[in-house]
Amino acid sequence: MTRQPALFLSHGSPMTAIDDGELRRSWQSLAERLSPPDAVVMVSAHWTTAIPILGGSATPETVHDFYGFPAPLYQLRYPAPGAPELALRIKSLLADDGIAAAVDPRQGLDHGAWIPLLTLFPDARVPVMQLSVQPDRGARHHWAVGQALRSLSEDNVLVIGSGHMTHNLRDYFVDRGRVAPQTRVFRDWAHEQLLEGRIDSLLDWPHEGPHAALAHPTPEHFLPLFVALGAAGDVAGVEHLGGGTLGGALAADNYLFTSA
Ligand code: ZN
Repeated sequence: MTRQPALFLSHGSPMTAIDDGELRRSWQSLAERLSPPDAVVMVSAHWTTAIPILGGSATPETVHDFYGFPAPLYQLRYPAPGAPELALRIKSLLADDGIAAAVDPRQGLDHGAWIPLLTLFPDARVPVMQLSVQPDRGARHHWAVGQALRSLSEDNVLVIGSGHMTHNLRDYFVDRGRVAPQTRVFRDWAHEQLLEGRIDSLLDWPHEGPHAALAHPTPEHFLPLFVALGAAGDVAGVEHLGGGTLGGALAADNYLFTSA
């Protein structure tokens, strides 16, 4: 039986699709060792909703939800099939755990979803279903959403949380090229909590994490981490996959979680 891990990926900027940088190289190394899943659940920081919404399209469009980037990025497509039956199954799994969710048959794949997938599964044959995050509902809600999905790994479904280890865009655009010290402190703290299995501390990250509000002025890019952690169930192993920083400013770490 193939049991899939769960992943948290920092998705970088849309340029990561074509830049030969440290972040993309970390995805390439990861791609070489993943066994092909039957489907991918992609939790994207760029789809924010009040309750969990599941992408239900059989042919999800590639959404270019970014502005002012070079023209070749807008020609990229990720024509993977959708997984509408998986969406219904997940809605049912969430309902079993008391979490109301809905299916949106029109939702495509935003750049938080398709940028990493272009490198991880470049032939776009693995069906992909996108799942939204709820910025107003905190880490424990997202952890519960992930836990509702924990049986999927045994059915060869790969759950990926796509966000960012830190995501202060002011650091990126204004102080580009150097990591703000406070952001670095938060990144190091979160990294240590992950490697030492201190999930409770991470779940309280807005209070426990040093400079949390500077590292994540809004929470949506950190929340996919908790869905991935929950989907791994009883986490047996946490592996840091590298990733470096984006433009020297945003921490772009990636992690792989294995289940007990
Ligand atoms: Zn993003």
